[in-house]
Amino acid sequence: MGENEDDKHVLDHGLGSTIRKGKTFETIDPRTEEVLARVAEGDKEDVDLAVKAARHAFDNGPWPRLPGVERRRILLKFADLIDENVEELAAIDTLDAGNLYAFAKGQYIHGAASAIRFYAGAADKIHGETLKMARELQGYTLIEPVGVAGLITPWNFPSTMFALKVGPALAAGCTVVVKPAEQTPLSALYFAHLAKKAGVPDGVINVVTGYGATAGAAISSHMDIDMISFTGSTVTGHRIMQAAATSNLKSVCLELGGKSPFIIFKDVDLEKIVPLALLGCLYNQGQICVAGSRVFVQEEIYDEFLVKLEEQLKKWVVGDPFDSNVHQGPQVDKKQYDKVLSYIELGKKQGATLFSGGKAFSDRKGYYIEPTIFTDVKDDMAIATDEIFGPVMSVMKFKTVEEVIKRANCTKYGLAAGVMTNDLNIANTVSRSIKAGTIWINCYFAFDDDLPVGGYKMSGFGKDMGMDALQKYLKTKSVATPIYNSPW
Ligand code: NAD
Repeated sequence: MGENEDDKHVLDHGLGSTIRKGKTFETIDPRTEEVLARVAEGDKEDVDLAVKAARHAFDNGPWPRLPGVERRRILLKFADLIDENVEELAAIDTLDAGNLYAFAKGQYIHGAASAIRFYAGAADKIHGETLKMARELQGYTLIEPVGVAGLITPWNFPSTMFALKVGPALAAGCTVVVKPAEQTPLSALYFAHLAKKAGVPDGVINVVTGYGATAGAAISSHMDIDMISFTGSTVTGHRIMQAAATSNLKSVCLELGGKSPFIIFKDVDLEKIVPLALLGCLYNQGQICVAGSRVFVQEEIYDEFLVKLEEQLKKWVVGDPFDSNVHQGPQVDKKQYDKVLSYIELGKKQGATLFSGGKAFSDRKGYYIEPTIFTDVKDDMAIATDEIFGPVMSVMKFKTVEEVIKRANCTKYGLAAGVMTNDLNIANTVSRSIKAGTIWINCYFAFDDDLPVGGYKMSGFGKDMGMDALQKYLKTKSVATPIYNSPW
């Protein structure tokens, strides 16, 4: 690492973003469509500086060399500070992303702290193995941090995404360059500030706010970043993998899009399952990668399902995400709002029946869209094949187990599936047959720190959460040594 002014500047300000050209971009409050803040617009030069800082901290700094128990202590302090700042962080994500404040305060921020704590607990339990390789050789494995990790996150749950990537990376001993989504850059900056307060050394967490095509692309093509952990769309996943392949062959983990089936068999209690199906699709305004947006209902209960769905919809409140009575806030930005509305129009045009909703709220400012349900949806309609990432549900009728397995798997995605039945054999058969990374039986969104989440097929590979996520920030070195004249 040279001693020039640029390097010094980065090292002095290892946390937070250092923006060379002084450019900024606006982040918008989706409730009001007004500018919430101007944020530094990092580009390739800033990414270079951030990587230098991260590389210096990895190659020469204390973090990867600390005993695991010390990293654990600092990460636990970080988690406590997150809990202590729950109101500020929840408010930031509500203003920036439109997350419901009650959920952000009650679940997402404490959930972020919990994830950091989970990985803190693993930081001092990273061990290799001793191998008796052959009579003449003995071996052992050293488990080492991968190095500098590039972490690129989406906008739907900004705090959760930050914690799910930074937690395991830091526990493993990596240093990181984080690029939060341009729509929601604010909480990542706040997290970095708290990490510094907790004692995370300078240069270990480097946040570069900016756009995907510039700052994000600079990370994925950087020659001095050792791995990328990305959550976002499948389209961007392709680009990131290409950039990794044509630069330094860095390893890549991709958590991508989904079009998950929510399958309801005729034996269920619809009083319980209908609210779950609605939440499974509309949660966070439909902006969740595992949204159960294709709802398959067995024909015997199809009509009753729709009656109960209508009843539930009457109780569904769309409005300001700070209001604790509200179930659905605004879409994150104008681009997503327009995209969702255009899919709704496509659904109508392609011949699906509009059961409810179908338009934006014209009586208010903000990116609010009616919860929209289509029936008579054919498997090949755009609303059934494409990830809309909005409050749009496609309801389909099915007859048999075999039929629904086939139709549920008829997608390029494979992130999650819900199977609602009291028949154990059907539950087990469908769980084994669906090509998806997570199957929820008689529940939905059943997340836990311990449970790995990730995709099959074009929903990506590599897991977030659970001990699987820690593994992606680690690599194994094999060491062998000869043994002379051993009788064993
Ligand atoms: P996106 O792919 O547009 O953006 C995600 C991130 O990638 C942002 O930080 C963006 O700036 C960056 N980016 C964009 N272009 C880039 C490029 N060329 N190189 C490097 N980085 C680039 O996705 P989005 O619209 O922000 O998020 C929604 C998508 O994320 C949905 O498809 C959703 O399913 C997916 N998602 C998946 C999971 C999961 O766990 N599988 C979780 C949340 C969201």
